[in-house]
Amino acid sequence: MQHPDHLPHDAKRQAFLRETSNEYAYGLGDTGFQQQCSTEYPSLASTTYLDYAASAPSPLSTFHRLSETIATTLYSNPHSRSSSSVATSLEIERCRGRVLEDLFGLDDAQKRAQWDVIFTAGATASMKLVGDAFPWQEGSKYCYPKQSHTSLVGVRGCALTRGAVVAAMDIDEMLESPQDHSSPTLFAYPAQCNATGQRLGLGYGVALKRRHSEACILLDAAAYLATAVLDLGSVPLDLAPDFIACSFYKIVGYPTGLGCLVVKRSSASFLQRSGYFGGGTIDAISVSPPFWSQPRRSLIPGPLHERFEDGTLPFLNIIALGQALDTHRRLYKSHRHVSRHVSALLRFATRELSLIRHANGRPVVQQHRAFGVSKYLEEPGPTIGFSVLSPSSEFIGHVHLEQLATVNGFQIRAGGLCNTGVLASAFNISDQDLMDEYNRGRSCWDDEEFGGSEKQSNRPLGIARISFGASSTIDDVLQWVSFIRRYFVVSETVVALSKPLPTPRPSESAAASLQTLTLYPIKSCGGQSLPRNSSWQIIPTGLLHDREWMLVDTSSGKTLSQKQYPRMALIRPWVDLDRRKLVVSAPGMTDLVLPLDRSDGDTISANVCSDIVAVTSLGGAADKWFSTFLDIQCTLRRLSGGASRHAHFDRATGSVPILLSNESPFLLISRPSVDQVNEWIREGSGNSGVEDPVHPACFRANFLLAPSMSPLVPFFEDTVDLLRIGTETFQVLARCRRCLMVCVNQKTGCKTKEPFSCLARKRKNARGGKIEFGVHLMWREDLSQGGCKPTVCVGDPVTFASLREAT
Ligand SMILES: *Cc1c(COP(=O)(O)O)cnc(C)c1O
Repeated sequence: MQHPDHLPHDAKRQAFLRETSNEYAYGLGDTGFQQQCSTEYPSLASTTYLDYAASAPSPLSTFHRLSETIATTLYSNPHSRSSSSVATSLEIERCRGRVLEDLFGLDDAQKRAQWDVIFTAGATASMKLVGDAFPWQEGSKYCYPKQSHTSLVGVRGCALTRGAVVAAMDIDEMLESPQDHSSPTLFAYPAQCNATGQRLGLGYGVALKRRHSEACILLDAAAYLATAVLDLGSVPLDLAPDFIACSFYKIVGYPTGLGCLVVKRSSASFLQRSGYFGGGTIDAISVSPPFWSQPRRSLIPGPLHERFEDGTLPFLNIIALGQALDTHRRLYKSHRHVSRHVSALLRFATRELSLIRHANGRPVVQQHRAFGVSKYLEEPGPTIGFSVLSPSSEFIGHVHLEQLATVNGFQIRAGGLCNTGVLASAFNISDQDLMDEYNRGRSCWDDEEFGGSEKQSNRPLGIARISFGASSTIDDVLQWVSFIRRYFVVSETVVALSKPLPTPRPSESAAASLQTLTLYPIKSCGGQSLPRNSSWQIIPTGLLHDREWMLVDTSSGKTLSQKQYPRMALIRPWVDLDRRKLVVSAPGMTDLVLPLDRSDGDTISANVCSDIVAVTSLGGAADKWFSTFLDIQCTLRRLSGGASRHAHFDRATGSVPILLSNESPFLLISRPSVDQVNEWIREGSGNSGVEDPVHPACFRANFLLAPSMSPLVPFFEDTVDLLRIGTETFQVLARCRRCLMVCVNQKTGCKTKEPFSCLARKRKNARGGKIEFGVHLMWREDLSQGGCKPTVCVGDPVTFASLREAT
C-alpha cells in the first residue's frame, strides 16, 4: 500500500492518528494495523485500492481456514438425510443467525426469530425476487427515489408489466405523497447511495411507514451494510422495513455470488411464489400435473426461506460466508468497529480534498450529493462521488481522471456508477437529454467524457468515485490527496507551460522534413513505416489503406483495441502494393498473406466508436490466425463501403471523411516535442540515462517531422495552421487528445506508465483537462499540386504557412 510517487505528508498523518486513536485501526495502533493489512492482503501490496464500494478485497485467513475446514469436514448436499447432510443443514441455519447477528445487530434470539434470511445470488437477485413475488395489481404503486441504483429502479419493470403505477421521486416528495389504502404499494429506497455515500438509514423508512402505514418497504442495503450495521433492533418492528437486500462480497470479499433477502416474517404474505417450483422447495408432487405442495413446515410462521430457495443452495459458499464472518470478527472486532474506522477516514478525506485549491483560490474537487438536504440523512458512508475542476471551474473528464489514476496505481471507479439519478441531478440532465445521448450513440459503459448537443458540448457523462472499507489505511487517503494535488492543481508555473509557444516564422526554405511516414492498415495493430525516399499515395480519408481493416471480438461484436489487448502492437501488417498483398506477421507465427484486391465476403455491420459501418469478412484462415495469436476469438474485417464516417472539429472545416481511424485522416507529431517529453521524464526521475524512455512510435502518428536546418521549438506544431509536405498541403484541425494507449510500448506490446503520467502534468489543456500531443490534419486538395495521384515521400521538405497567406 506504499506508493513511491506519493510519500505521505507525515505531519498530517501524525495529527490524524492523534485525533482518532479511539476510532481508527481497531485498537491495533497504526503499526499493528499496517502489519495486519500487509499479512492479510498480499493482493493490495502494490496498489492503492479505493473501490470498496464495488467490492471488498478478501483476507488471506478466510482462505486458510476455509480450505482447512472443507478439507477436513465432510459437507454435503443438505437435501439428504445422511449425517454429513444434516450437519451441513445445521451449519447453514447457523449462518442465517450469524448474518442477523453480525450485520443486523440482532443479538437476541427472540428478536432474530422475527426475521428470516433467504439466500440469493446477490442484492440485485434479492430485489428481483421482491419485484417478481410482490402481489402487484391494477392500482398498485411502486415508488423509489430518483437517485437509486439501477437494480432498485429495475423493480419497476415487474410492477409495470402487472399493471402497477410507477413513480421516481425526491425523498421528501415520497414522504409527502398521498396515502393509499386500496392496493398493495411498495416503497423502495437505498440505505446508502452507491455513488455518493449519502445515507438514509432506517430512520427514513420509519418516517415512510408512519406516513404510509399499509405500504411495504424494500430497502436496498447493499452499499450501507458494507461498512455499517443496520440495527434492526433499534426501531419498532412494525416500523422496520419489510424486505432488505444485500450482497456479501461487498462486506467480506469472498464468497461472491451470494447475497440475501432479509424478510420481516409478519410481511411474508406479501411475497407470493411465481409459478415455478423445484427441488428442495416442495413436500410432494405427482408425476403428471397438477398436484404438488409447498413444504408444510413453511406455512407461516414457519421458515419462509424454504419457499424461495429453489434447488440446492450453494452450501459451500454459505460455509465460506460463515468463515468469512469469523475472520471479519477476528480482524476487526465487530462490524461496528469497521464503521468507526471508516468514518474517521472519510472525515479526514473529505476535509483534505475540500482544502485542495488552484493557485487562483478555486476548489479542485467538487463533491456530489445525491439527495440534497433532508433531515433524514445520517452521517454518510465512506464513499466520495466527485468531479475534478479546472481553475475556471470547468469539469475535467472522468475518463481522463480514471486513466491517470490507473497508471499511478490506484483502483477507483468512474462513469455513470449504475446510478443515473445521481448523474442527472449533478449535471442537470433531463430524461429527454439521456435519451438524446443514447440516440447519439452514447451508452453507460463507453469512454465518452462529455455529451450534449454540438452547441453545448461540455456536459459531463460521468463522475469519479473513491471509497473506503475495513482494510483502508490513512496512507491510502494521503496518497490519493497527493495524487490530486500533483496532477490537477494548476499553479502559476503549469499555466505558463500550457500557454502557446512562440510561432516559428513561416518561411519558404524548408523548416523541417518528413522523417517517418507510417500507416496502420489494421486498426490498433502495429504500423507500417516506409523506408527513406519511398512515397505513398494520399486520399481524402488518409494514407491509402490506412485503417482499412479491423479486428472484431466474435462474442461481443466490439472492435479490438490495444487498450485492452496491448499484444496487438506486435501484429505487423504490411501492404505490398507490387504484389497486391496484405502481409501480416507476428512473433512465432508464419506470415498471413491476404489479397489486397477486394474479395467478396459477407457484409455485416460493425460498431466503431458509436458509428455503424459496413464491413466484410476475410475468411476463416485469417480469423484463426488472429485468434491464435491474441488468444481471443476474433475476426478480421475490412471496411467495405468507403468513407462512411465523418470526423467533426470545432473549426469551420465542415466534416472530414475518415475510415476506421478514431478522429481524423492524418495525425502528425514532431521530433522536438518527443525529445521534450523524454527530457521531462528524465528530469522527473532524476535519471540522465542515454536511452530515451519514450519512442515516437507510441504516439501512433502518420507523420513524424524533424527540423532540417535550424532547430524548432518543441510543440511548434500546435501553432501551425497549414503545412506543405512535398507537393501536398494539409490543414491543422485540432490538437490530438491522448488516452492510455500511448503507454503501450509498440516494440514489446507491454504497458508502461509513461508518457501518460508526464504528459498529464505538462501537457494538459487548461479547459477540460485533456492531455494533448500532436495535431490532426486534413488534406487540402485545393491547395495542393500533386496532380491526379498525389503522394508524400519520406524525406520530403516541409514548410509552414498561415491560412490567410495561402487563400
Ligand atoms: C452494489 C449495489 C447494488 C447491486 O448489488 P449486486 O451485488 O450487484 O447485486 C445495488 N444497490 C446498491 C446501493 C449497491 O451498492
